[in-house]
Formats: sequence, C-alpha cells, structure tokens
Amino acid sequence: MTAQKINKFVSRRIIFHIDFDSFFASCEQQYRSELRNKPIGVTAANSRTCIIASSREAKRLNIKTGARSYEAIKVCPNLVLVPADFNKYFEVSKKFLNICKDYSPFTELFSIDEVFMDVTRTHDLFGGPYKTVDIIKKRIKSEIGEYITASFGISHNKLLAKLGSGMNKPNGIFEINKEDVISVYKKAKLTDICGIGERIKRRLEEIGIFNLIQLRNCSLDILIGEFGNVEGQFLKSVGLAIDESEVIPYTEPTDVKSVGRSYCLPKNECDKRVVLQNIYELCEEIGIKLRRLNKKGRTIGIGLNGDRHIHFRKTFKEYVNTGSDIYNLSLPFLKEDFKNQKYTRQIHVWVSNLEDNKNIPLSLFDYANKQEKVTNVIDKINDKFGDHTIRNGFLLYSNKLTTVPNGYMADKFERMKLTKVDY
Ligand SMILES: [Mg+2]
Repeated sequence: MTAQKINKFVSRRIIFHIDFDSFFASCEQQYRSELRNKPIGVTAANSRTCIIASSREAKRLNIKTGARSYEAIKVCPNLVLVPADFNKYFEVSKKFLNICKDYSPFTELFSIDEVFMDVTRTHDLFGGPYKTVDIIKKRIKSEIGEYITASFGISHNKLLAKLGSGMNKPNGIFEINKEDVISVYKKAKLTDICGIGERIKRRLEEIGIFNLIQLRNCSLDILIGEFGNVEGQFLKSVGLAIDESEVIPYTEPTDVKSVGRSYCLPKNECDKRVVLQNIYELCEEIGIKLRRLNKKGRTIGIGLNGDRHIHFRKTFKEYVNTGSDIYNLSLPFLKEDFKNQKYTRQIHVWVSNLEDNKNIPLSLFDYANKQEKVTNVIDKINDKFGDHTIRNGFLLYSNKLTTVPNGYMADKFERMKLTKVDY
C-alpha cells in the first residue's frame, strides 16, 4: 500500500530528509584515523585533477567540490588528496539504510548519502519525530562511526524537508512548518532548492527573479511562458512550497525510463581507439543494466564532448540489450563527426524507449537466440566475479572503467543494486 493511502486520514504528513555531512570525506576519515581533523580532498579514482568532495576542515578553507586540485593545494599546501573509494561509500550507505528502515517502511534512498523517510504513521512508536531523529543519530554513531554525522530536515513535504536538512549543517536538525515558509524563503537561495540548478537560476534572473520570495510572487503564466508547462508548474509549486510527491519505499521497483552512463576521460584523449574502447565499455555497462532490469530499448543516444560537441540520437526498429548491439548500431552514425574531432574528454551513452522483455516477440532467427544464451552465460560469470570480467577482445589492453555513481544517483539502477543486497 502507498504512503498516500495509509496517510489518508492524517492531516499533516511528517517527512524526514537525512543528509550525511561531507559524506565521502567523512567516510575516509572514519576508516583512516590518520586523516581525521585534517583538510582532505577526495578526488575521482581515475584522475587526481579535480576534487569531488572535501572534508569539513577543507570546506572551512573554502575548498569546494569541483575545485581543481592544483589550485586547492595552492590555497592549502597541507591538503591531503585521497582517491575516491565508492565500494566503501556504498557499504556505509547500506548500513545507513538498514538503520532507517527500522523506523518506517517508507524509506527512500535518494542518493548515496541521502534518504527520505515518511514517518507520519510510525514516529509515535518512538516518542515523536525528534525522539526518532535522536535514536537514528545515536545508531549512526554506534553502528557506522562517530566521525560520520548527518543533518535532518523535518517538514510536511519532501521539498521542504530537503531544504531543511541543508539549513543547519553539520549534525543539525531543522524543522520547517507551514508558517515558517516565508521566513525560510527569505534566507534560502534559489539554488538551495532541489531541482533549481545554475542554469535555471540564470534564466530566472533574466526575468527578474533573484530569490524565493520573488519566485513565490511570480505568476504561473509568466513561469510557463518562460520555462514551458512542466518546468513552469514545478517552479510555481516551489514558490508556494507545495509538493505532493510521495516517499517511494526502496523496496518498490522503480519505473526506469532510460539507462545511461557518462564517463570523463582522465585527459583530452586524441587516440581514437581509446575513445572507441571507452564508448564500447559504456555500451557494455548499459547492456548489463538493461539485462538486469529485464528490458530492451530501441532509442540510442551518444554524446562526445571535446574540441567539438557531437550528439547523436536515433530510434531503431529493433530492441537491443547487449553492448555490442548498442555499439554496432550507433557507430555508423558517429563516424563522420568523430573523424573530425581532435580530442575527446567526455562520453555519454544512453538507451531509452525501453520495453519489458516479456512484451517483445522472440526472434525468428536461431542465431539471435543462441547469442542470447551466450550473453546469459557471460552475465552469470560477470555477476560472480565482477562486471567486465569477460570482455570483448576489442577491449584488450584497455583499462577497466570503474563505476562511479553520479552525485544524485539519478541512475535508479545503482540504488536498486545497493538496496537489493541485504533485503
Ligand atoms: Mg551530503
């Protein structure tokens, strides 16, 4: 049953948003005591050029996410650079989720270090919302470690709960009631709202909206005129602090609309073969994901950023779910532009227009069914020994990609993989 149905007779929902403080860096400091109380910058595993997360101590010195490592070291010569270890972060995330689910079945893993909980019907069992927060905080401390802390936002909807968790960091609690909205909106920035990034902020500023109060007072017509129906409606509800969306329990299968992967090469890559190997590997990853979801797709998109931007998107007649099919179908359309690209830095591959396998007719050709059997065997081996254990010969001598989840884990697949383990 959904939270909405259960909450039908409750006039006010109680939603938590829990957000770990400086998550990647705190995990490193928790597990490696020599890093504690030091400014550290976590860098991507494949390259040390960019800081993807900084510790509290580094944040105090104004070293932000996205800073270039060499610039950060100039500011802070004793900054310790630590390569990211996502397996470690996933482990912590899993422990965290296992704690939260004891306090509400409506617990949604929103990203690797963020959780929404609907405790409307359960907080009473633990002595009210604040007591529940207290218990969870204590368990984080005793079961995950005292160096890892989380901030809590409490409100009647997800939008405000998420805004609240950022208001009193680190290790804080912040509640936003209906009557507090105006005063909070006076303090918060546009970009403090989940869903308003720099791009939308700039466009809002172009129409004279510089803060949340101005957004609140802006008419729906103007917003729709500027942003279109969907985004306009969204911004209007942000202004009014309305959000009816539900907390989706992590156990519920999510409706995946597309599967995609991006990869940033460690340097501007001029070697075409290396770029193609990386494209192939991303196609393979998408194939693995599609097969785990029991789906196939027929729209393929590839984006290559470098000295020129190449974007290609095409819908094919046949549905595919293997890396080689995705690669081979799309490659001919890439060739001309790709030949003229001097170097490549970023690769993005995605497949959409997905359909459940059970709705797709089986192939009439025997070779296709044989191929499917081979793929199944490869999947079994890779499941057991790790993705990419068996790889296409084309990838010989290429480095294995390390799967790096993106900030928000927009990729729901990663969440499913994470939540499946202990369930
Ligand atoms: Mg966080």
